[in-house]
Amino acid sequence: MCHSEINDLKSSYQTKYTKSIACESCVKKYGKKDVEILADLFLMYGGYEEKLKNNGESFDAVLDSLVNKLSKTTGDIDQIFTMTLHHFLLHGVDQKKLKEKIETS
Ligand SMILES: [Zn+2]
Repeated sequence: MCHSEINDLKSSYQTKYTKSIACESCVKKYGKKDVEILADLFLMYGGYEEKLKNNGESFDAVLDSLVNKLSKTTGDIDQIFTMTLHHFLLHGVDQKKLKEKIETS
């Protein structure tokens, strides 16, 4: 999920449905329930957590590219939420950072 190397299979976690392997720190960070959802998300839309984090894009640029992506979709509200979550995860924007941005804007 975060694409860190898994050295210790015993402390990793295999998801029930997608049979993805999540490392110990991802399980610790998100909890098993959310890991299931996130593994599903990356399987469906590709990539992995923080894949595009080091592109050097500002938060506004990340937001702009999200708006651009969403403007091209005809998906329902569920799909829009899913794409938004996936987009932020790819860029390494987690809930904490998002909350900060909302509070300071
Ligand atoms: Zn991980």
